[in-house]
Amino acid sequence: TDTDTRLAHRAAPENLPSAIRHYIDGEFVDSADGDTFDVLDPVTNETYIRAAAGKQADIERAVAAARRAFTEGPWPKMLPRERSRVLHRIADIVESRDQQLAELESYDSGLPITQALGQARRAAENFRFFADLIVAQADDTFKVPGRQINYVNRKPIGVAGLITPWNTPFMLESWKLGPALATGNTVVLKPAEFTPLSASLWPGIFEEAGLPQGVFNLVNGLGEDAGDALVKHPDVPLISFTGESRTGQIIFGNAAPFLKGLSMELGGKSPAVVFADADLDAAIDATIFGVFSLNGERCTAGSRILVQREVYDEFVSRYAEQAKRVKVGYPHDPATEVGALVHPEHFEKVMSYVELGKTEGRLVAGGGRPEGFPEGNFVAPTVFADVKPDARIFQEEIFGPVVAITPFDTDDEALALANNTKYGLAAYIWTNDLKRAHNFAQAVEAGMVWLNSNNVRDLRTPFGGVKASGLGHEGGYRSIDFYTDQQAVHITL
Ligand code: NAD
Repeated sequence: TDTDTRLAHRAAPENLPSAIRHYIDGEFVDSADGDTFDVLDPVTNETYIRAAAGKQADIERAVAAARRAFTEGPWPKMLPRERSRVLHRIADIVESRDQQLAELESYDSGLPITQALGQARRAAENFRFFADLIVAQADDTFKVPGRQINYVNRKPIGVAGLITPWNTPFMLESWKLGPALATGNTVVLKPAEFTPLSASLWPGIFEEAGLPQGVFNLVNGLGEDAGDALVKHPDVPLISFTGESRTGQIIFGNAAPFLKGLSMELGGKSPAVVFADADLDAAIDATIFGVFSLNGERCTAGSRILVQREVYDEFVSRYAEQAKRVKVGYPHDPATEVGALVHPEHFEKVMSYVELGKTEGRLVAGGGRPEGFPEGNFVAPTVFADVKPDARIFQEEIFGPVVAITPFDTDDEALALANNTKYGLAAYIWTNDLKRAHNFAQAVEAGMVWLNSNNVRDLRTPFGGVKASGLGHEGGYRSIDFYTDQQAVHITL
């Protein structure tokens, strides 16, 4: 029967917990009011587990524990080297469990298993990177000869509130947890409600690595309950948020009365610009990967491809052929390149853009459910050509395997098109003209630019967007700066 086939493909990982709970002051606990919410697996859209639905009371408990660990516990006062050792142990444990982590993440989020594995390894690397960085940290000293010495006394800030989205959840949590902990803060993490499973592994990992009690606290729940209470808690002086631009605006407003420190990584609609002189083979491979990897649920997805007129027709037809060959499949299958979108609500949103696209552009690949997947959140890699810049599929973040292709003639026109959205996260440029590449890169309104390259990051570089894509930059020492105060101390000689 249909149900049997579905269940066969469901491939529930071993050792699924029986419930997802909060973790406060070193203990797993339920919500104070006992409330829970359903978590669905994206292949069947059936509830496979229930998670504790945190509210203000739970956030208060977690913040109180984190505050105690900050004011009374050893963590903020430890030598950077001692904290670094704990972080390296965390990285070791994450690496040793990468397979299990990938299975849970893939099952919960619908990400292809091979890509989930890559994200688990990247999570380990995030901890290792900040473990190394914190021991190499040097602060400024300034001397005015004969008059004054001035130095920077860097200190952790307190309880950091970390709010994360459902795309690559474990990895994005590590990108905040690593620097927040390396610098000696204590934390309350509120993971995304669509994908709480992998976050439930942090407590075990941290305990085993020797992180002191109360330093890490986890509260599950909906954004408008648990997330909102965290943002409005007076004892949480900084919020690091990754999610939609609209949510960022709400958080910005709610944090304003407290003048909190904010770091925001928000949405994107990043252009990939292909000039006629580019290596087309490389550009096509990279732009296919750029929008269809991670199911297209990627903040830096190159979801608008701008192609110079001379090569436009060739590009569109080759791109469409290649998009049709991208393998949609069950998330746990190692051959799968595009899995299931995270949640039926998100699936409906992406499908509504696919339908809209049929009125706004010329459909050349995909356009709905792939064959053989009558259920679950599967979307065929979808390509629209001849998309006008005022089209909604050109302007709005779809966050799925859907791409818009638009022609241009001149460099100026390409730049105007590239900058013609409210977002400014990433840009990808394909040309063999060195001057043009750098001039375009420097003029484009994007926080991060890749020239003739796939999206591969160096963790020392700034990460973040401009315009509606973000506020502030993390990455390398910028993350250390966000999670610390730099007090100036002056001495007259
Ligand atoms: P979202 O904004 O809906 O939710 C993100 C988190 O915020 C969740 O944990 C949610 O519960 C919480 N939240 C929601 N409302 C809140 C409120 N009022 N107060 C406090 N917290 C609240 O985003 P999403 O749908 O989970 O994630 C997808 C979005 O994230 C996309 O727009 C994507 O581009 C963006 N993203 C950006 C980056 C980046 O680095 N720039 C990285 C990944 C994802």
